Amino acid sequence: MFSKILIANRGEIALRVIRACKEMGILSVAVFSDADRDSLHARMADEALCIGPAPAAQSYLSMPNIISAARITGCEAVHPGYGFLAENAAFARAVGDSGLTFIGPSADAIERMGDKAVARQTMMAAGVPCVPGSVGTVDSSEEALVFAREVGFPVLIKAAAGGGGKGMRVAADERELHSNFTAAKTEAAAAFGSDQVYIEKYLARPRHVEMQVLADTHGHAVYLYERDCSVQRRHQKLIEEAPSPALTPELRAAMGEAAMKAVRAVDYVNAGTVEFLLDHDGRFYFMEMNTRVQVEHPVTEQVTGVDIIQEQLRIASGEPMKHVRQEDVRLNGHAIEFRINAEDPLHNFRPHPGTIDVFNPPGGFGVRVDSHMYSGYTVPPNYDSLLAKLIVWGETRGEAVARARRALDEFIIVGIPTTLPFHQYVVEEEHFQRGEVYTDFVERYATTEDVRAFVTGVPAAEKEAST
Ligand code: ADP
Repeated sequence: MFSKILIANRGEIALRVIRACKEMGILSVAVFSDADRDSLHARMADEALCIGPAPAAQSYLSMPNIISAARITGCEAVHPGYGFLAENAAFARAVGDSGLTFIGPSADAIERMGDKAVARQTMMAAGVPCVPGSVGTVDSSEEALVFAREVGFPVLIKAAAGGGGKGMRVAADERELHSNFTAAKTEAAAAFGSDQVYIEKYLARPRHVEMQVLADTHGHAVYLYERDCSVQRRHQKLIEEAPSPALTPELRAAMGEAAMKAVRAVDYVNAGTVEFLLDHDGRFYFMEMNTRVQVEHPVTEQVTGVDIIQEQLRIASGEPMKHVRQEDVRLNGHAIEFRINAEDPLHNFRPHPGTIDVFNPPGGFGVRVDSHMYSGYTVPPNYDSLLAKLIVWGETRGEAVARARRALDEFIIVGIPTTLPFHQYVVEEEHFQRGEVYTDFVERYATTEDVRAFVTGVPAAEKEAST
């Protein structure tokens, strides 16, 4: 096992990794930008080094600065967390070339899954069902039209290098396909440095269900079951739960097997997530694979008892993982995660950095809070808006929802608007309570007006009869 590692990240995920290190007797080195001098991750690690100014491009995204920090402090390995350089194959390679271990999959696996169009082709070849659409990228709107006619409108134009819910455009018909195609390419080039796009059928109200996988260097691979991440806003996740209210044991096993095919197809090692869309007929389709630990990994930890970060460290150090047979991984109860962001749910989730005067997280049985907040902390404007993750566990989904309601009521954050009121509204919402959540849940049942009516006690204007 490693004796010292560097964490190339900030925020709650940096703390999460530091905690795992402490439990395993591994020394941790934090890196921080000028904006994060007062951050908990810099205080909690055994050592901390400033790697540059506030803009991420000059600090958390600076490969030379991070690798130098690791070498200066005598680290053996680098944990990338999520975001920043976590899915950057060049970084994984540079870490390896400096004689350090990258705590994640091989650079080759990152590369093959990082291009979503290539990943689709790889999965098709491996016999994993993919969303109907183009086989690789498409170069012109005429070519796009051929595929769109084949699978039927509406279709989605997706950036091959896209991520984080960005780089997607729906086209309802031929006319929109033509006008959106060029726009999508221009957007993709600006956001991701590549204008490659591909076409997928736009599925009507699917669920987003993803499989957590683990594979080690001894040839063991298991899936830690699924997470349902259907509650999203602008294709970004807000609430995740495990298990999915929509999966039967048969469907779960089939999806798990499909995820194992994905793992084998790219010789995947370490923790990863295979994302699927599930339609109303119980058919599922591969969407993409994330080659890192996910924000929502705690719900899986709560229902399986597996510490995913510790497993990542074990696997990267060359040890076998703890649960090597599928039948050793058991599902117990139900867990739900709520992302508490520094965003105003009454104003279109506008990001709202600023000082937190009071931070008073909930506690008690079945409640976990992963957060880097404290009273008096100032949220810098430079990074993402995640403040805390509230994870609740219950023996049943109903118990978990009741516990969530209690814990959300206890959660006090004073100083800046957060998504807490949104979550308080959602746990009372009848479709959510019944587990009837699809990717359009927010626009249908949890609009700004709904949340405002809930917060102010003034009923929203009559909703259309169809909803
Ligand atoms: P990202 O890498 O940006 O997260 P994904 O490919 O994972 O992008 O898609 C994010 C979300 O976009 C999905 O969870 C889903 O809500 C929506 N989405 C993606 N592809 C489709 C599709 N073919 N049909 C309907 N919704 C889709």
